[in-house]
Amino acid sequence: MTPQRKKVLSLFEEIGSGIHLSAEEVHAKLTSSGERVSLATIYRTLRLLVKMAFLNELDLSEGGNRFELLSHEHPDHHHLICIRCGRTEEFENNEVVNAGKEAAKKFAFKLLESSLNVRALCPMCINK
Ligand SMILES: [Zn+2]
Ligand SMILES: [Zn+2]
Repeated sequence: MTPQRKKVLSLFEEIGSGIHLSAEEVHAKLTSSGERVSLATIYRTLRLLVKMAFLNELDLSEGGNRFELLSHEHPDHHHLICIRCGRTEEFENNEVVNAGKEAAKKFAFKLLESSLNVRALCPMCINK
């Protein structure tokens, strides 16, 4: 792994799972700790870490993308995502997980994870 990738990954490992960062936030954190790296490089590095299954990518469409550590301790968690400001709350729901299990079984797929992303507006953004 290149030093660049290691730095990005260890940033996520330090903050722990359940935290969802945008590429801009990752960039700001690294540059404030004295790292000289472009936002484009951060984007490329994040995409690569997703491909390598170290990170999970949440597609927010309007609000851009967020990245989080792919955790094996709680793989089946779901997200409530504010599409305006990107605030992301996690929740667990067995019915969603079971629905995924049943669907996979029906079509003889091997289940990897069931996660639901709910697009919403947070209380701060509703009245804007
Ligand atoms: Zn999450
Ligand atoms: Zn919001």
